[in-house]
Amino acid sequence: MTSPSRNPLELLGQIDLEALGRLSQKVDLPALLGTASRLSDGQLKQLSRLLDRGNRPPRALPEPDGDFYGQLDDLTEEQQVVRLRVRGFMEERVAPIMNEYWSRDEFPRHLIPELRALDLPRRVWNEDGTHKPDATLMEGLITLEFCRVDVSTAVFFGVHTGLAFASIALGGSAQQKAEWLPKMLDLEAIGAFGLTEPEGGSQVSQGMRTTCQRDGDTWILNGEKKWIGNSTFSDFTVIWARDVDTGEVRGFIVRAGTPGYRVQKIAGKIALRMVENGQITLEGCRVPESDRLQEVRGWRTTAEVLRLTRAGVAWQGVGCALGAYELALKYAQTREQFGKPIGAFQLIQNHLVHMLGNVTTTLSLCLRLSQMADAGLMRDEHAALAKVVTAARCRETVALARETFGGNGILLEYLVAKHFADTEAIYSYEGTNEINTLVVGRAVTGLSAFV
Ligand SMILES: Cc1cc2nc3c(=O)[nH]c(=O)nc-3n(C[C@H](O)[C@H](O)[C@H](O)COP(=O)(O)OP(=O)(O)OC[C@H]3O[C@@H](n4cnc5c(N)ncnc54)[C@H](O)[C@@H]3O)c2cc1C
Repeated sequence: MTSPSRNPLELLGQIDLEALGRLSQKVDLPALLGTASRLSDGQLKQLSRLLDRGNRPPRALPEPDGDFYGQLDDLTEEQQVVRLRVRGFMEERVAPIMNEYWSRDEFPRHLIPELRALDLPRRVWNEDGTHKPDATLMEGLITLEFCRVDVSTAVFFGVHTGLAFASIALGGSAQQKAEWLPKMLDLEAIGAFGLTEPEGGSQVSQGMRTTCQRDGDTWILNGEKKWIGNSTFSDFTVIWARDVDTGEVRGFIVRAGTPGYRVQKIAGKIALRMVENGQITLEGCRVPESDRLQEVRGWRTTAEVLRLTRAGVAWQGVGCALGAYELALKYAQTREQFGKPIGAFQLIQNHLVHMLGNVTTTLSLCLRLSQMADAGLMRDEHAALAKVVTAARCRETVALARETFGGNGILLEYLVAKHFADTEAIYSYEGTNEINTLVVGRAVTGLSAFV
């Protein structure tokens, strides 16, 4: 602002009389001038600063970035390339359509060929079913970038590349691996993983009701599976069943279209609606002995698969929280109330800083967990603690993010509502909060509290 003249005549020359006339129609000008002339020097300085602020161009605000400590700056070039490739795909291809598919309870299957082109599974696994040296970290980074925009896409990938692939990689014969793994790496054959049952969630290891019985060179499967992601369109589902004769848990590759195998999509979910979860019925379903996973060593193999994938679910919590935080920050910088961006209010900053703390600490936790897994040091309880902590911190973060949006926070179009709802599923699958807590509790006390 140019400094006003002290000479009364020059001062009169500087005054815009038309503007003064307009102002006098709105306020009592003599009274206003009288009040201004009685202001103290300090009050005048404050007023002058206020007027000056109104004339300045708006300051550029920082771009939202949930990686506050730059923890992802230390990645290798390949890890960065893959991460940014996933980010681009999610922002350009998934974000524009995800609300529509989420609302319709449908997975956008037309995106599978585009996902194939990203060549992600081969960044994690080799064709023979062994892991790449940085497999857990790479999978975590991919998951993080999926979930930053949409958790359902991460679940599609995690069920196929994690649960289903690992079942064959750990439990399959050389021949089974050669038949399925290359096709799975290229997303030419899509897999699902059928463990949970209507009556057997947390206790499925002890109370598995689905049965298998040998009959010559085939097995007969009977029972039900619930919540099986991708199973409505997968080429096969790995079905876990208890051997009627020996009591042992066995795994089978059940191909889509096998007589006696029926899948019904579960409707009415309030979370992860873009994931197609199936309820599977097996009625006298005959599977050849050649499709029994030959190297499965009872429940031990199933548990090993779950341990491998639990780290990925912990990463889901980080990605989802990070996405919600960045959305909330952007909204707080732009949404104005009482003449200011709501991000200028102390209570809103408190929400944002709390969210950022959660994102930062859980990101550190998962980076360390992946490092341990890739070094062969991760035990069940390590993955379980990460799942417990990230899911809980994510739940807190998405709630604060949603709150930051006020009423708009419950509208799908503002995006944060989907993160809010999806977190409820993260919280409960791949071992509930309680079950993972019991796993950690048993490890640290040496005493089992499982009933
Ligand atoms: C969206 C979604 C996708 C899924 N995808 C798959 C999939 O692809 N394949 C698959 O096989 N499964 C899948 N699941 C199933 C998932 O793994 C189970 O939901 C989970 O294991 C919990 O089982 P449950 O839902 O039957 O809960 P329950 O086991 O019935 O538990 C209910 C409550 O009781 C608590 N509880 C149970 N036992 C104990 C105990 N001993 N001590 C203390 N508390 C206890 C639990 O923590 C929970 O709070 C999916 C689930 C969801 C929601």
